[in-house]
Amino acid sequence: MPDLFFIAVTTRASGFLNALSARCSGFCRALIPAVVLSGLPLPLQAAAPLVAIDFGHTLAAHGATSARGRGEFYFNRDLGEALAAALRERGLRVRIVNGDGRIASLRARPVAAEGADLLVSIHHDSVSAQLLNAWEWQGRQLDYNDDYAGHSLFVSRDNPDTARSILCARAIGARLQRMGFVPTHKNGLLRAYADRELAVHYYDGLAVLRHARMPALLFEGGVIKNRDEELLLADPAYQAKMADGMATAIAACLLSGQPADDEAGADRPDVLPQTPAGY
Ligand SMILES: [Zn+2]
Repeated sequence: MPDLFFIAVTTRASGFLNALSARCSGFCRALIPAVVLSGLPLPLQAAAPLVAIDFGHTLAAHGATSARGRGEFYFNRDLGEALAAALRERGLRVRIVNGDGRIASLRARPVAAEGADLLVSIHHDSVSAQLLNAWEWQGRQLDYNDDYAGHSLFVSRDNPDTARSILCARAIGARLQRMGFVPTHKNGLLRAYADRELAVHYYDGLAVLRHARMPALLFEGGVIKNRDEELLLADPAYQAKMADGMATAIAACLLSGQPADDEAGADRPDVLPQTPAGY
């Protein structure tokens, strides 16, 4: 299912990119953005899509703490920078939001992204406090949980373009699974699915998504409380591979993707089942 969906979404842009990328390197690879953009409608040739990449949390409040005591912000920054490089390699424009880790507020993030075609907020996942186990790492008392691992995605129905938000999230989920990344369903208990198979959830109240005036999604790269996955997520080669998959999907979504009928319907209010008379 992910493969079929991905092929449908990406045939024109990323399928072409992949085929080209697989066959060349160096100077040849540097030509790819120009080749791709030259095939676009004229308005897009003038200005390639702009993707805002938000590094979640800040230096002062770094979010979750990994099994080995590293702040989530640093994982977000590293993956976000890898994603920026992968998008630029494909000829897309990038704007980093919260690059210095000192942004003033949640509301300032979508404001800083103003004018972008897509906002991607990068995060990493934790595990609820009651499920954590104590351990000692390099003399520090820390906690971990090795039961959960994998990425997941979130969109908001309060965003003005939920349809394209879902499309881009599904494209990322499909591409990552095709590359061998396995999503987590730990968030399915609390957050309804927009796409169960691709681990895309609704999280309507997320400020960074609902205050954005462009399509927006939040990406959880993996579970940093998991001791094995933490090591992968801190590995630059793993980050580059994940970023490559995300960038392929984002390019496909922005350059050629069309939201499916059910995605367009996501912007409408929920229609509740009719209540039988007498209730
Ligand atoms: Zn976070």
